[in-house]
Amino acid sequence: MEVGCQRKIHGEVDVFEVGRPILLVEDTITFEQRRVFSRIWKNAAPSKVIAFTWKLLHNRIPTKVNLAQRHALSPEISLNCVMCDGVQETANHLMLH
Ligand SMILES: [Zn+2]
Repeated sequence: MEVGCQRKIHGEVDVFEVGRPILLVEDTITFEQRRVFSRIWKNAAPSKVIAFTWKLLHNRIPTKVNLAQRHALSPEISLNCVMCDGVQETANHLMLH
């Protein structure tokens, strides 16, 4: 692993450590979350199912709410669910309701 790389942007030296952000992310998850993620990746399900599950657990599926947060939806578009039009379209709503 390469650590302590430097790059120059507009004359300023920007020091960063390759691999360190991953360690920071891993530090923020609980033991139980780590156990669940480990089981997901070791599962015999098709890779696209595993990838979708990983995205769902990290709230990375393109729901209307997530797309709006990324400014990928026009502000005039309703964030309500297209199926029931009662609540905002979140991952929890789509998968559990
Ligand atoms: Zn709905």
